[in-house]
Amino acid sequence: MCRIHKAEELPRGRVYVFTNQTSCCGSCLLLTEGGAAGEPYPPDTGNWRIMNPQVYLRGVIVERRDLTPKLWIIRLRPEEELAFTPGQYVALGLPRGGRIIERPYSLVSASCERELEFFLELVPGGQLTPLLYQVGVCGEILIRRIAKGRFGFDSQSQHVNHLMIATVTGVAPFVSILRNQILNRDEHRPPPFSLLLLQGASTSAELGYGDELSARARECEWFHYVPSLSRGWLDAGWPGELGRVDDTVRKYADAFGFTAADTTAYLCGNPQMIVNVREILQRAGFSRGFIREEMYWPGA
Ligand SMILES: Cc1cc2nc3c(=O)[nH]c(=O)nc-3n(C[C@H](O)[C@H](O)[C@H](O)COP(=O)(O)OP(=O)(O)OC[C@H]3O[C@@H](n4cnc5c(N)ncnc54)[C@H](O)[C@@H]3O)c2cc1C
Repeated sequence: MCRIHKAEELPRGRVYVFTNQTSCCGSCLLLTEGGAAGEPYPPDTGNWRIMNPQVYLRGVIVERRDLTPKLWIIRLRPEEELAFTPGQYVALGLPRGGRIIERPYSLVSASCERELEFFLELVPGGQLTPLLYQVGVCGEILIRRIAKGRFGFDSQSQHVNHLMIATVTGVAPFVSILRNQILNRDEHRPPPFSLLLLQGASTSAELGYGDELSARARECEWFHYVPSLSRGWLDAGWPGELGRVDDTVRKYADAFGFTAADTTAYLCGNPQMIVNVREILQRAGFSRGFIREEMYWPGA
């Protein structure tokens, strides 16, 4: 967080936009009211008052980590607590052109964390992400008060195996589920199931939570993490899997002994990956009821 513009010190009821003209410290740009004319995609600050406080909470960005020019992680401190179950999403929004533009985003944080974490991808030409991208530490984003979604952990089927497959930001709900499992468990009593997470990305910089997940896999014998890179040649010395995540599914499901009879599968992110993996799993005997899906945008 910027040491000069501490989020707590910001007066309420004002909108802050980062400009690229002045800086207050080494890592954070100066917050000013409104955006300079001609800036690309400044949020429509004059319309901030259109937000309905019964529908939205304000959240202040207290941490921002840029992974690549298109991927970043933010932690938001909402003005009130937001209840959710791991795997759910919430709509984030910003005012623009007299209305609030909002899109759903999976929560990365564990449900007991006070701050809300999100893993975001910039979609060039998209309506919201170029606006979100402009908001830095101490900036504000609107958060819908109600989290939604049924992409949670399957604790009903009694399946002993859980196979999670993600592309890039699609890892978000799985990190939340994992963080919750770890926080809510006595470390001396491992859970009665195994969890295998396969994550695909182009390069290692896009893996986002690679270090955290690898560390968890070393600590927890019931959790396994396999990242794979589709452009591995850009990562000299990458020791792991190469190719699209779709192509690793059968190999690792078989290696860990995950079968259709004892496994629930969860697919999240790129729609084409979801279609491909769904077909692979169905050919392996999985019934549709045990393949859970969260498609991030409409596709195939
Ligand atoms: C349940 C759910 C959870 C989601 N969680 C996340 C999340 O955790 N992190 C995250 O970054 N996004 C997530 N998304 C996607 C997010 O809601 C937006 O669709 C995305 O951020 C693009 O918004 P936009 O307004 O910039 O683009 P839009 O104006 O909505 O879209 C512009 C075009 O880009 C396509 N598109 C949208 N997203 C992508 C993409 N990633 N890659 C390529 N094309 C795309 C759209 O289909 C459309 O054709 C989630 C979506 C859903 C349905």
